[in-house]
Amino acid sequence: MSSGFFDRLAARLDKVDPGSLQAQLLRLARERGFLETIFQSIQEGVLVIDNDGKLLYANRAAEQFIGFEFARVRGRSVERYLRDLDWNRLLGVEDEPGTARLLTHELEITYPEHRFLAVYAVPLPVQEETGKSVLIIFRDVTRDRLQEIDALDGERLNAVRLLAAGVAHEIGNPLNALNIHLQLLAREVAALPEASRAGLTDLVEVARTEVGRLDNIIAQFLRALRPSKPQFELASPDEALQETLRLMKADIENRRIAVSIECPDAVPRVFIDPQQIKQVFFNLIKNALEAMPDGGALKIAFGVGDVFLTIAFQDTGHGIPASDMGRIFEPYHTTKSKGTGLGLMIVQRIVQEHGGQIEVSSKPRAGTCFRVLLPLADRRIRMLQSPVKRESQ
Ligand code: ADP
Ligand code: MG
Repeated sequence: MSSGFFDRLAARLDKVDPGSLQAQLLRLARERGFLETIFQSIQEGVLVIDNDGKLLYANRAAEQFIGFEFARVRGRSVERYLRDLDWNRLLGVEDEPGTARLLTHELEITYPEHRFLAVYAVPLPVQEETGKSVLIIFRDVTRDRLQEIDALDGERLNAVRLLAAGVAHEIGNPLNALNIHLQLLAREVAALPEASRAGLTDLVEVARTEVGRLDNIIAQFLRALRPSKPQFELASPDEALQETLRLMKADIENRRIAVSIECPDAVPRVFIDPQQIKQVFFNLIKNALEAMPDGGALKIAFGVGDVFLTIAFQDTGHGIPASDMGRIFEPYHTTKSKGTGLGLMIVQRIVQEHGGQIEVSSKPRAGTCFRVLLPLADRRIRMLQSPVKRESQ
Protein backbone atom coordinates (compact mmCIF):
# COMPACT_ATOMS: atom_id res chain seq x y z
CA MET A 1 0.00 0.00 0.00
CA SER A 2 3.02 2.34 0.06
CA SER A 3 2.91 5.08 -2.49
CA GLY A 4 6.69 4.84 -3.01
CA PHE A 5 6.23 2.65 -6.02
CA PHE A 6 3.89 5.14 -7.62
CA ASP A 7 6.25 8.01 -6.92
CA ARG A 8 9.16 6.23 -8.50
CA LEU A 9 7.09 5.17 -11.46
CA ALA A 10 5.78 8.69 -11.93
CA ALA A 11 9.29 10.14 -11.71
CA ARG A 12 10.53 7.86 -14.46
CA LEU A 13 7.58 8.33 -16.71
CA ASP A 14 8.58 11.86 -17.66
CA LYS A 15 11.29 10.25 -19.73
CA VAL A 16 8.77 8.19 -21.60
CA ASP A 17 5.89 10.55 -21.98
CA PRO A 18 5.88 13.90 -20.25
CA GLY A 19 2.24 14.44 -21.12
CA SER A 20 -1.00 13.45 -19.55
CA LEU A 21 0.07 9.98 -18.42
CA GLN A 22 2.36 11.39 -15.77
CA ALA A 23 -0.30 13.77 -14.57
CA GLN A 24 -2.78 10.90 -14.38
CA LEU A 25 -0.42 8.77 -12.39
CA LEU A 26 0.47 11.57 -10.03
CA ARG A 27 -3.21 12.15 -9.44
CA LEU A 28 -3.70 8.46 -8.77
CA ALA A 29 -0.84 8.48 -6.29
CA ARG A 30 -2.30 11.51 -4.56
CA GLU A 31 -5.76 9.98 -4.38
CA ARG A 32 -4.29 6.86 -2.98
CA GLY A 33 -2.43 8.88 -0.38
CA PHE A 34 -5.62 10.75 0.36
CA LEU A 35 -7.60 7.57 0.95
CA GLU A 36 -4.76 6.18 3.01
CA THR A 37 -4.79 9.30 5.20
CA ILE A 38 -8.52 8.92 5.75
CA PHE A 39 -8.23 5.26 6.67
CA GLN A 40 -5.40 6.02 9.04
CA SER A 41 -7.23 8.76 10.87
CA ILE A 42 -10.63 7.18 11.45
CA GLN A 43 -11.40 5.55 14.77
CA GLU A 44 -12.82 2.42 13.22
CA GLY A 45 -10.47 -0.44 12.65
CA VAL A 46 -10.35 -1.49 9.01
CA LEU A 47 -8.99 -4.84 7.82
CA VAL A 48 -9.02 -6.43 4.41
CA ILE A 49 -8.45 -10.14 4.31
CA ASP A 50 -8.10 -12.40 1.31
CA ASN A 51 -9.74 -15.70 0.65
CA ASP A 52 -7.18 -17.66 2.68
CA GLY A 53 -7.53 -15.45 5.74
CA LYS A 54 -4.31 -13.59 4.92
CA LEU A 55 -4.04 -9.93 5.77
CA LEU A 56 -4.05 -7.51 2.83
CA TYR A 57 -4.58 -4.27 4.69
CA ALA A 58 -4.94 -2.95 8.20
CA ASN A 59 -5.19 0.64 9.33
CA ARG A 60 -3.71 2.09 12.50
CA ALA A 61 -6.88 1.68 14.57
CA ALA A 62 -7.03 -2.00 13.63
CA GLU A 63 -3.40 -2.41 14.70
CA GLN A 64 -4.21 -0.90 18.07
CA PHE A 65 -7.38 -2.92 18.62
CA ILE A 66 -5.82 -6.22 17.74
CA GLY A 67 -2.32 -5.56 18.95
CA PHE A 68 -0.21 -6.29 15.90
CA GLU A 69 1.92 -4.38 13.45
CA PHE A 70 0.57 -4.41 9.94
CA ALA A 71 4.04 -4.44 8.43
CA ARG A 72 4.86 -7.66 10.30
CA VAL A 73 1.63 -9.51 9.77
CA ARG A 74 0.94 -8.41 6.20
CA GLY A 75 0.33 -11.37 3.94
CA ARG A 76 0.04 -13.71 6.92
CA SER A 77 -2.94 -15.29 8.51
CA VAL A 78 -4.68 -13.17 11.15
CA GLU A 79 -6.82 -16.00 12.40
CA ARG A 80 -4.92 -16.37 15.65
CA TYR A 81 -5.52 -12.75 16.56
CA LEU A 82 -9.25 -13.04 16.12
CA ARG A 83 -10.14 -16.54 17.11
CA ASP A 84 -13.70 -15.64 17.96
CA LEU A 85 -14.57 -14.89 14.37
CA ASP A 86 -15.91 -17.76 12.38
CA TRP A 87 -13.42 -17.55 9.54
CA ASN A 88 -14.71 -20.44 7.53
CA ARG A 89 -18.10 -18.95 7.45
CA LEU A 90 -16.74 -15.53 6.69
CA LEU A 91 -14.54 -16.59 3.83
CA GLY A 92 -15.94 -19.81 2.55
CA VAL A 93 -19.52 -19.09 1.60
CA GLU A 94 -20.13 -18.76 -2.10
CA ASP A 95 -22.81 -16.18 -2.67
CA GLU A 96 -24.74 -15.55 -5.81
CA PRO A 97 -23.94 -12.22 -7.41
CA GLY A 98 -26.17 -9.46 -6.15
CA THR A 99 -26.35 -10.90 -2.68
CA ALA A 100 -25.69 -8.49 0.14
CA ARG A 101 -24.11 -10.13 3.14
CA LEU A 102 -23.42 -8.77 6.52
CA LEU A 103 -22.11 -10.38 9.60
CA THR A 104 -22.63 -8.48 12.78
CA HIS A 105 -21.14 -9.64 15.92
CA GLU A 106 -19.68 -8.36 19.12
CA LEU A 107 -16.22 -9.48 20.00
CA GLU A 108 -14.61 -9.39 23.39
CA ILE A 109 -10.85 -9.11 23.22
CA THR A 110 -8.48 -9.21 26.15
CA TYR A 111 -5.24 -8.30 24.45
CA PRO A 112 -3.71 -5.71 24.25
CA GLU A 113 -6.57 -4.18 26.19
CA HIS A 114 -9.88 -5.49 27.41
CA ARG A 115 -12.31 -4.18 24.85
CA PHE A 116 -15.61 -4.91 23.25
CA LEU A 117 -15.58 -4.51 19.50
CA ALA A 118 -18.57 -4.46 17.21
CA VAL A 119 -17.58 -6.26 14.04
CA TYR A 120 -19.07 -5.79 10.62
CA ALA A 121 -17.80 -8.02 7.86
CA VAL A 122 -18.73 -7.54 4.23
CA PRO A 123 -17.35 -9.55 1.30
CA LEU A 124 -15.78 -7.31 -1.34
CA PRO A 125 -16.38 -7.79 -5.04
CA VAL A 126 -13.85 -10.12 -6.68
CA GLN A 127 -10.78 -8.29 -7.97
CA GLU A 128 -8.17 -9.48 -10.39
CA GLU A 129 -5.13 -9.01 -8.17
CA THR A 130 -6.51 -10.29 -4.93
CA GLY A 131 -9.46 -12.51 -5.82
CA LYS A 132 -12.18 -12.69 -3.23
CA SER A 133 -11.61 -10.60 -0.13
CA VAL A 134 -13.48 -9.52 2.96
CA LEU A 135 -13.66 -6.09 4.48
CA ILE A 136 -13.86 -6.12 8.25
CA ILE A 137 -14.71 -3.04 10.25
CA PHE A 138 -14.30 -2.85 14.01
CA ARG A 139 -15.89 -0.27 16.19
CA ASP A 140 -14.89 0.13 19.79
CA VAL A 141 -18.05 -0.25 21.83
CA THR A 142 -16.35 -0.81 25.17
CA ARG A 143 -17.81 2.28 26.68
CA ASP A 144 -21.29 1.64 25.26
CA ARG A 145 -21.06 -1.91 26.41
CA LEU A 146 -20.11 -1.04 29.97
CA GLN A 147 -22.86 1.54 30.15
CA GLU A 148 -25.26 -0.71 28.36
CA ILE A 149 -26.01 -2.82 31.37
CA ASP A 150 -27.50 0.27 32.96
CA ALA A 151 -28.68 1.78 29.72
CA LEU A 152 -30.50 -1.34 28.67
CA ASP A 153 -32.32 -1.30 31.95
CA GLY A 154 -32.79 2.36 31.40
CA GLU A 155 -34.28 4.55 28.81
CA ARG A 156 -34.71 2.58 25.66
CA LEU A 157 -35.87 -0.56 27.31
CA ASN A 158 -38.18 1.34 29.53
CA ALA A 159 -39.92 2.65 26.44
CA VAL A 160 -40.08 -0.85 25.09
CA ARG A 161 -41.38 -2.22 28.35
CA LEU A 162 -44.04 0.44 28.54
CA LEU A 163 -45.13 -0.46 25.06
CA ALA A 164 -45.18 -4.12 25.93
CA ALA A 165 -47.16 -3.51 29.08
CA GLY A 166 -49.59 -1.51 26.97
CA VAL A 167 -49.90 -4.34 24.49
CA ALA A 168 -50.42 -6.88 27.24
CA HIS A 169 -53.13 -4.74 28.74
CA GLU A 170 -54.88 -4.07 25.43
CA ILE A 171 -54.85 -7.66 24.28
CA GLY A 172 -54.81 -9.46 27.61
CA ASN A 173 -58.10 -8.04 28.89
CA PRO A 174 -60.33 -8.91 25.94
CA LEU A 175 -58.62 -12.30 25.84
CA ASN A 176 -59.62 -12.93 29.45
CA ALA A 177 -63.15 -11.86 28.68
CA LEU A 178 -63.22 -14.14 25.65
CA ASN A 179 -62.01 -17.03 27.75
CA ILE A 180 -64.70 -16.52 30.37
CA HIS A 181 -67.43 -16.22 27.75
CA LEU A 182 -66.25 -19.32 25.99
CA GLN A 183 -66.45 -21.20 29.29
CA LEU A 184 -70.00 -19.96 29.76
CA LEU A 185 -70.83 -20.94 26.21
CA ALA A 186 -69.36 -24.41 26.78
CA ARG A 187 -71.65 -24.81 29.79
CA GLU A 188 -74.73 -23.70 27.82
CA VAL A 189 -73.85 -26.08 25.02
CA ALA A 190 -73.45 -28.96 27.45
CA ALA A 191 -77.01 -28.31 28.70
CA LEU A 192 -78.52 -28.57 25.20
CA PRO A 193 -80.30 -31.71 24.03
CA GLU A 194 -77.97 -34.21 22.38
CA ALA A 195 -79.21 -33.48 18.82
CA SER A 196 -78.60 -29.74 18.79
CA ARG A 197 -75.31 -30.14 20.64
CA ALA A 198 -73.65 -31.91 17.68
CA GLY A 199 -70.72 -29.97 16.29
CA LEU A 200 -71.10 -27.05 18.73
CA THR A 201 -68.87 -28.61 21.37
CA ASP A 202 -66.04 -28.93 18.89
CA LEU A 203 -66.40 -25.35 17.69
CA VAL A 204 -66.24 -24.00 21.21
CA GLU A 205 -63.23 -26.17 21.93
CA VAL A 206 -61.37 -24.90 18.88
CA ALA A 207 -62.08 -21.30 19.85
CA ARG A 208 -60.77 -21.94 23.35
CA THR A 209 -57.58 -23.52 22.04
CA GLU A 210 -56.96 -20.55 19.79
CA VAL A 211 -57.48 -18.10 22.62
CA GLY A 212 -55.01 -20.09 24.68
CA ARG A 213 -52.53 -19.87 21.83
CA LEU A 214 -52.82 -16.08 21.71
CA ASP A 215 -52.37 -15.94 25.44
CA ASN A 216 -49.16 -17.90 25.04
CA ILE A 217 -47.77 -15.62 22.39
CA ILE A 218 -48.34 -12.58 24.55
CA ALA A 219 -46.77 -14.22 27.56
CA GLN A 220 -43.73 -15.06 25.44
CA PHE A 221 -43.53 -11.57 24.08
CA LEU A 222 -43.53 -10.10 27.55
CA ARG A 223 -40.96 -12.54 28.81
CA ALA A 224 -38.59 -11.63 26.02
CA LEU A 225 -38.94 -7.95 26.66
CA ARG A 226 -38.24 -8.25 30.31
CA PRO A 227 -34.50 -7.72 30.44
CA SER A 228 -33.93 -10.89 32.39
CA LYS A 229 -30.55 -12.54 32.32
CA PRO A 230 -30.66 -15.78 30.38
CA GLN A 231 -31.10 -18.88 32.51
CA PHE A 232 -28.61 -21.11 30.78
CA GLU A 233 -29.09 -24.83 30.67
CA LEU A 234 -27.79 -27.60 28.43
CA ALA A 235 -30.62 -28.06 26.02
CA SER A 236 -31.21 -28.93 22.43
CA PRO A 237 -32.28 -26.08 20.19
CA ASP A 238 -34.19 -28.40 17.86
CA GLU A 239 -36.70 -29.02 20.63
CA ALA A 240 -37.09 -25.27 21.06
CA LEU A 241 -37.62 -25.03 17.32
CA GLN A 242 -40.28 -27.74 17.28
CA GLU A 243 -42.16 -26.02 20.06
CA THR A 244 -42.01 -22.69 18.29
CA LEU A 245 -43.28 -24.23 15.06
CA ARG A 246 -46.15 -25.88 16.93
CA LEU A 247 -47.11 -22.52 18.32
CA MET A 248 -47.06 -20.95 14.86
CA LYS A 249 -48.66 -23.85 13.01
CA ALA A 250 -51.93 -22.11 12.19
CA ASP A 251 -50.19 -18.99 10.92
CA ILE A 252 -47.85 -21.04 8.73
CA GLU A 253 -50.71 -23.00 7.21
CA ASN A 254 -52.87 -19.94 6.60
CA ARG A 255 -50.09 -18.32 4.67
CA ARG A 256 -49.38 -21.40 2.57
CA ILE A 257 -45.76 -21.65 3.59
CA ALA A 258 -43.96 -24.95 3.24
CA VAL A 259 -41.56 -25.41 6.12
CA SER A 260 -38.75 -27.93 5.86
CA ILE A 261 -36.16 -28.78 8.46
CA GLU A 262 -32.69 -30.07 7.73
CA CYS A 263 -31.14 -31.59 10.74
CA PRO A 264 -28.05 -33.70 11.35
CA ASP A 265 -28.71 -36.96 13.19
CA ALA A 266 -27.70 -35.56 16.52
CA VAL A 267 -27.98 -31.86 17.11
CA PRO A 268 -25.51 -31.19 19.92
CA ARG A 269 -26.92 -29.69 23.06
CA VAL A 270 -25.75 -26.19 23.79
CA PHE A 271 -25.97 -23.79 26.69
CA ILE A 272 -29.12 -21.82 26.02
CA ASP A 273 -32.05 -20.26 27.71
CA PRO A 274 -34.72 -22.26 25.87
CA GLN A 275 -37.41 -19.63 26.46
CA GLN A 276 -35.29 -16.89 24.98
CA ILE A 277 -34.12 -19.03 22.08
CA LYS A 278 -37.75 -19.81 21.29
CA GLN A 279 -38.30 -16.08 21.14
CA VAL A 280 -35.42 -15.78 18.67
CA PHE A 281 -36.89 -18.51 16.47
CA PHE A 282 -40.36 -17.04 16.76
CA ASN A 283 -39.25 -13.60 15.61
CA LEU A 284 -37.16 -14.91 12.71
CA ILE A 285 -39.90 -17.24 11.49
CA LYS A 286 -42.49 -14.51 11.83
CA ASN A 287 -40.40 -12.14 9.74
CA ALA A 288 -39.89 -14.86 7.14
CA LEU A 289 -43.66 -15.48 6.96
CA GLU A 290 -44.34 -11.79 6.62
CA ALA A 291 -41.82 -11.54 3.79
CA MET A 292 -43.79 -14.16 1.82
CA PRO A 293 -47.33 -12.76 1.59
CA ASP A 294 -48.15 -14.99 -1.39
CA GLY A 295 -46.82 -18.16 0.13
CA GLY A 296 -43.40 -19.70 -0.32
CA ALA A 297 -40.88 -21.94 1.35
CA LEU A 298 -39.02 -21.63 4.60
CA LYS A 299 -36.02 -23.90 4.98
CA ILE A 300 -34.58 -24.27 8.44
CA ALA A 301 -31.20 -25.99 8.59
CA PHE A 302 -28.98 -26.96 11.51
CA GLY A 303 -25.26 -27.11 10.92
CA VAL A 304 -22.44 -28.06 13.25
CA GLY A 305 -19.08 -26.35 12.86
CA ASP A 306 -15.92 -26.27 14.97
CA VAL A 307 -17.02 -23.38 17.06
CA PHE A 308 -20.70 -22.83 16.52
CA LEU A 309 -23.97 -24.55 16.05
CA THR A 310 -25.68 -22.78 13.17
CA ILE A 311 -29.39 -22.51 12.63
CA ALA A 312 -30.24 -21.02 9.24
CA PHE A 313 -33.64 -19.67 8.27
CA GLN A 314 -33.85 -19.33 4.50
CA ASP A 315 -37.01 -17.86 3.05
CA THR A 316 -38.16 -17.19 -0.51
CA GLY A 317 -39.55 -13.78 0.35
CA HIS A 318 -39.11 -10.29 -1.02
CA GLY A 319 -35.63 -9.86 0.47
CA ILE A 320 -33.95 -6.88 2.08
CA PRO A 321 -32.50 -4.09 -0.06
CA ALA A 322 -28.76 -3.61 0.53
CA SER A 323 -29.45 -0.05 1.67
CA ASP A 324 -31.62 -1.34 4.54
CA MET A 325 -29.16 -4.00 5.69
CA GLY A 326 -27.39 -1.79 8.20
CA ARG A 327 -30.60 -0.72 9.89
CA ILE A 328 -32.61 -3.86 10.35
CA PHE A 329 -31.40 -4.45 13.91
CA GLU A 330 -32.18 -0.91 15.03
CA PRO A 331 -35.14 -0.60 17.35
CA TYR A 332 -38.23 0.79 15.65
CA HIS A 333 -36.87 0.25 12.15
CA THR A 334 -39.72 -1.38 10.29
CA THR A 335 -40.97 -1.49 6.71
CA LYS A 336 -44.35 -2.86 7.75
CA SER A 337 -47.44 -0.75 8.34
CA LYS A 338 -48.19 -2.68 11.52
CA GLY A 339 -44.61 -3.57 12.44
CA THR A 340 -42.96 -2.67 15.71
CA GLY A 341 -39.37 -2.79 14.50
CA LEU A 342 -38.45 -4.55 17.74
CA GLY A 343 -38.24 -8.17 16.64
CA LEU A 344 -34.68 -8.18 15.39
CA MET A 345 -33.46 -5.97 18.21
CA ILE A 346 -34.69 -8.61 20.64
CA VAL A 347 -33.16 -11.37 18.51
CA GLN A 348 -29.80 -9.63 18.50
CA ARG A 349 -29.82 -8.94 22.21
CA ILE A 350 -30.64 -12.54 23.09
CA VAL A 351 -28.11 -14.02 20.68
CA GLN A 352 -25.40 -11.70 21.94
CA GLU A 353 -26.11 -12.64 25.54
CA HIS A 354 -25.66 -16.23 24.44
CA GLY A 355 -22.20 -15.39 23.11
CA GLY A 356 -23.45 -16.00 19.58
CA GLN A 357 -23.57 -14.22 16.27
CA ILE A 358 -26.12 -13.40 13.65
CA GLU A 359 -25.48 -13.36 9.97
CA VAL A 360 -27.83 -12.09 7.31
CA SER A 361 -27.67 -12.48 3.60
CA SER A 362 -30.36 -11.35 1.27
CA LYS A 363 -31.13 -10.96 -2.38
CA PRO A 364 -34.02 -8.71 -3.31
CA ARG A 365 -36.97 -10.65 -4.78
CA ALA A 366 -35.18 -13.95 -4.17
CA GLY A 367 -35.08 -14.36 -0.42
CA THR A 368 -33.33 -13.83 2.85
CA CYS A 369 -31.30 -16.05 5.08
CA PHE A 370 -30.81 -15.36 8.78
CA ARG A 371 -28.21 -17.52 10.49
CA VAL A 372 -28.02 -17.80 14.22
CA LEU A 373 -24.67 -19.05 15.48
CA LEU A 374 -24.61 -20.39 19.03
CA PRO A 375 -21.34 -21.38 20.70
CA LEU A 376 -20.95 -25.12 21.14
CA ALA A 377 -20.98 -26.27 24.73
CA ASP A 378 -17.29 -27.12 25.20
CA ARG A 379 -16.34 -23.75 23.82
CA ARG A 380 -18.61 -21.96 26.20
CA ILE A 381 -16.95 -23.64 29.12
CA ARG A 382 -13.64 -22.29 27.83
CA MET A 383 -15.14 -18.83 27.57
CA LEU A 384 -16.37 -18.94 31.14
CA GLN A 385 -12.91 -19.92 32.32
CA SER A 386 -11.16 -17.01 30.65
CA PRO A 387 -9.28 -14.85 33.19
CA VAL A 388 -11.23 -11.71 32.37
CA LYS A 389 -14.54 -13.30 33.20
CA ARG A 390 -13.14 -14.37 36.54
CA GLU A 391 -11.87 -10.94 37.34
CA SER A 392 -15.24 -9.36 36.81
CA GLN A 393 -17.06 -11.77 39.07
P1 ADP B 1 -40.90 -5.74 12.28
O1 ADP B 1 -41.04 -7.17 11.89
O2 ADP B 1 -41.86 -5.35 13.34
O3 ADP B 1 -40.92 -4.80 11.10
P2 ADP B 1 -38.19 -6.53 12.89
O4 ADP B 1 -37.16 -5.94 13.79
O5 ADP B 1 -38.60 -7.94 13.15
O6 ADP B 1 -39.45 -5.56 12.94
O7 ADP B 1 -37.69 -6.42 11.40
C1 ADP B 1 -37.22 -5.18 10.91
C2 ADP B 1 -37.31 -5.09 9.41
O8 ADP B 1 -36.37 -5.97 8.80
C3 ADP B 1 -38.64 -5.51 8.82
O9 ADP B 1 -39.58 -4.47 8.82
C4 ADP B 1 -38.26 -5.94 7.40
O10 ADP B 1 -38.17 -4.80 6.55
C5 ADP B 1 -36.85 -6.46 7.57
N1 ADP B 1 -36.84 -7.95 7.60
C6 ADP B 1 -36.63 -8.72 8.69
N2 ADP B 1 -36.66 -10.04 8.36
C7 ADP B 1 -36.90 -10.10 7.03
C8 ADP B 1 -37.05 -11.17 6.08
N3 ADP B 1 -36.96 -12.47 6.44
N4 ADP B 1 -37.28 -10.84 4.78
C9 ADP B 1 -37.36 -9.55 4.40
N5 ADP B 1 -37.24 -8.49 5.24
C10 ADP B 1 -37.01 -8.75 6.54
MG1 MG C 1 -40.59 -8.81 13.10
